[in-house]
Amino acid sequence: MTTPTIKLVRGDITRQSVDAIVNAANSSLLGGGGVDGAIHRRGGPAILDECRKLRASHYGKGLPTGEAVATTAGDLDARWVIHTVGPVHSESEDRSHLLASCYRSSLRVADELGARTVAFPAISTGVYGWPMDDGARIAVQTVRDAHTTVDEVRFVLFDERAYEAFAEQLR
Ligand code: ADP
Repeated sequence: MTTPTIKLVRGDITRQSVDAIVNAANSSLLGGGGVDGAIHRRGGPAILDECRKLRASHYGKGLPTGEAVATTAGDLDARWVIHTVGPVHSESEDRSHLLASCYRSSLRVADELGARTVAFPAISTGVYGWPMDDGARIAVQTVRDAHTTVDEVRFVLFDERAYEAFAEQLR
């Protein structure tokens, strides 16, 4: 167990060659927009097939926020997709612990699988409305504090603003 090396990449997470790609899924596990849509589009139907089976066997009420579960990566250049459900941002309630839990749970699943390189998107910072700077702070802090057998965590940031927010946290 060590602390993983953190790398930042600007780009599309579905283009990464890593052991595991983390998906900012929704609790239905049946796909959605943003990263989720991109992963299912490029990864092909095998991912959705496994998601459906997981739903039937374990997550009839949906995957709870902050938890993570793995499937095949289908046609992606990875061995697994780890699906995690970020919290919707709220002004009235502090849900930071749930966002931190997404990163921690995903790394725990990665450890169980034996994944050494893991790519994360900026979870919850899209449709779920989390402010980018705070989302970056929680992501970097949580990974820095993690005890894991993962060697490399690669944050894959879709645009310049997201990249800058993460870079600021590493400075
Ligand atoms: P959430 O519902 O958790 O907010 P989204 O998919 O809407 O998830 O957005 C999460 C973040 O991922 C946003 O910052 C968005 O810009 C970014 N994003 C969208 N598509 C991709 C992609 N293909 N690769 C990497 N990041 C992406």
